[in-house]
Amino acid sequence: MSTSKIIIAVDGYSSCGKSTLAKALAAHLAYVFIDTGAMYRAIALYLLRHQIDFNDTSKVIEALTQIKLYFKYNAQTAKSDMYLNDENVELEIREMRVSQKVSEVAAISEVRSFAVAQQHEMGKDKGIVMDGRDIGTVVFPNAALKIFVTADPAIRIQRRYLELSATNSKVTREEIAQNLQHRDLIDTTREHSPLRQAEDARVLDNSNMTREEQFNLAISWVKEVIG
Ligand code: C5P
Repeated sequence: MSTSKIIIAVDGYSSCGKSTLAKALAAHLAYVFIDTGAMYRAIALYLLRHQIDFNDTSKVIEALTQIKLYFKYNAQTAKSDMYLNDENVELEIREMRVSQKVSEVAAISEVRSFAVAQQHEMGKDKGIVMDGRDIGTVVFPNAALKIFVTADPAIRIQRRYLELSATNSKVTREEIAQNLQHRDLIDTTREHSPLRQAEDARVLDNSNMTREEQFNLAISWVKEVIG
């Protein structure tokens, strides 16, 4: 494989295995993995903690000036954790109270500009795999490889359920189903940077694929692009 680094954009609906794939690609290629959803979750957490009304734009803008986001590698989990103002919020941002509000927060244009500016900075030297909703369409429309991940809704619900039950919560399948439906609806219909497949994205439906099969298919695309 050539040594020239590229940007790989991985977009798709909630809980369809985007970050599993993005992480595996980044580890294999020695690229940086960036979970942009974690950034929107951390912003939502800040607004919730400070009881800021999402509809009050001036309060939201003021809040953004108080938010510092960064990822830091955690050797114990071999993953990067999300930090909000120097606090590790990696677990808290996955809680249902954040999941229930994050899409409303991510629909605010000022919030998107704030997050996208940082995403541009993170990608300026290429060599990244960035996962999100608008990476191939808005953040890096010239990304060398764009992957749009999809999966059957019932499978997405089951995967999310197993993931969340492993960490803590007493969350039910019904709650997860409602949350995924709610987020998909807001994400696809919002005015700013709605979730949609980029015209030049390659679709990866992993409903009936193992993680390994999904990885192998994506790596074959990387090889095609990098040469
Ligand atoms: O990826 P994850 O499910 O953690 O993302 C949480 C939420 O953040 C999504 O439901 C979506 O509303 C928002 N998001 C976004 N744009 C991105 C990444 C996430 O709007 N690039």
